[in-house]
Amino acid sequence: MTLSGSGDGQSGSVRAHFVLVPMMAQGHTIPMTDMARLLAEHGAQVSFITTPVNAARLEGFAADVKAAGLAVQLVELHFPAAEFGLPDGYITYHNNVFQNVKDENELITITGFPTPLELTKAKCPGNFCIPGMEQIRKKFLEEELKSDGEVINSFQELETLYIESLEQTTKKKVWAVGPMCLCHRDNNTMAARGNKASMDEAQCLQWLDSMKPGSVVFVSFGSLACTTPQQLVELGLGLETSRKPFIWVIKAGAKLPEVEEWLADEFEERVKNRGMVIRGWAPQLMILQHQAIGGFVTHCGWNSTIEGICAGVPMITWPHFGEQFLNEKLLVDVLKTGMEVGVKGVTQWGSENQEVMVTRDEVQKAVNTLMDEGVAAEEMRVRAKDCAIKARRAFDEGGSSYDNIRLLIQEMEIKTNACRSVVDTDGNKLSFLV
Ligand code: UDP
Repeated sequence: MTLSGSGDGQSGSVRAHFVLVPMMAQGHTIPMTDMARLLAEHGAQVSFITTPVNAARLEGFAADVKAAGLAVQLVELHFPAAEFGLPDGYITYHNNVFQNVKDENELITITGFPTPLELTKAKCPGNFCIPGMEQIRKKFLEEELKSDGEVINSFQELETLYIESLEQTTKKKVWAVGPMCLCHRDNNTMAARGNKASMDEAQCLQWLDSMKPGSVVFVSFGSLACTTPQQLVELGLGLETSRKPFIWVIKAGAKLPEVEEWLADEFEERVKNRGMVIRGWAPQLMILQHQAIGGFVTHCGWNSTIEGICAGVPMITWPHFGEQFLNEKLLVDVLKTGMEVGVKGVTQWGSENQEVMVTRDEVQKAVNTLMDEGVAAEEMRVRAKDCAIKARRAFDEGGSSYDNIRLLIQEMEIKTNACRSVVDTDGNKLSFLV
């Protein structure tokens, strides 16, 4: 994120102008669109940088902000795909603590966290390795060191200790302004988030309306993870034997035809009265916010994690790669609103292993434990509801995130005014945030 000033030229007042540059993956672009909306609702001007192909995906967002009269502008930059032999408009991306660790599965104590943390090398975020990622990480770090501070999609009351610790470690300001997904107040804007849904949203809502409150399990592994056919079958059979109603979002990419017959001819027929399968893109936020949802089986991407927290539902954690194992720890060990399904290893993105990571029995057991009426599950539900209430309080007027976003805009306006003389003469002076 960079910041520049845009004034009215007469009164001398300068309006903060944020330039948002998301990393080109849905899990980064979607929360950035929420941030754009939020900043503009608080009076700032926003330019949102994207490529032509991604801009087409953001049509719903562009229409919404225009209809709401918000000062958000999409800026399409030419993406030199052909020059690098890439398909048009796409980008590929395709800690020292672990440096000398040989056994990938040995539990290592990680120091420097405000609460105890143990993790294996295999599950640490740095293990998300795809070609070019190291350079991207290095660049992020360099920019981070130059920045004025960090804006995070979380809220003070959720992660007080960690936010304080981040500020102390980086010696920079941290503005917790989330959960940003709460800027959506109706089903239409929730459904327009990200890609176009692969099914009819009205039909999905109708189906959810017909279910008892808190009775449906929602299963989704985000935008990147592709589940292998073997694992899909195992997961499906676990959902079937749990006998609970469910919505299951399937992303199997090119491997989908391998399971389509099993899905359409056998599985969907057997579960037709209580199961809905969505192949492709689901309006996740809209579904999660429906009162029929009582549990969320998630891959623990940060957006899904915070969206689940806002929905006030307990979660079954099924991390795949990257920082998802840390988010699992937050849900299970710190907030105690999640339970592990029992993932043993990493499912690397782009080279998903063929072995089954979680068996049907493990799925069934986790779903039944989460959705049953026992004391432990009930306590988890109470804690999850409490987190959702705190999230809403933080986001609404007078809450910590509401105040933080105003402070952020004010601080940036002060900085912009301070460097205005430079802006006036060479027009290029910018303040940077990451
Ligand atoms: N999402 C969605 N529909 C889908 C899959 C994902 O709306 O079918 C959204 C989800 O609500 C979240 C984002 O895409 O906002 C995924 O981000 P996350 O950090 O959870 O995971 P990632 O996709 O980066 O692994």
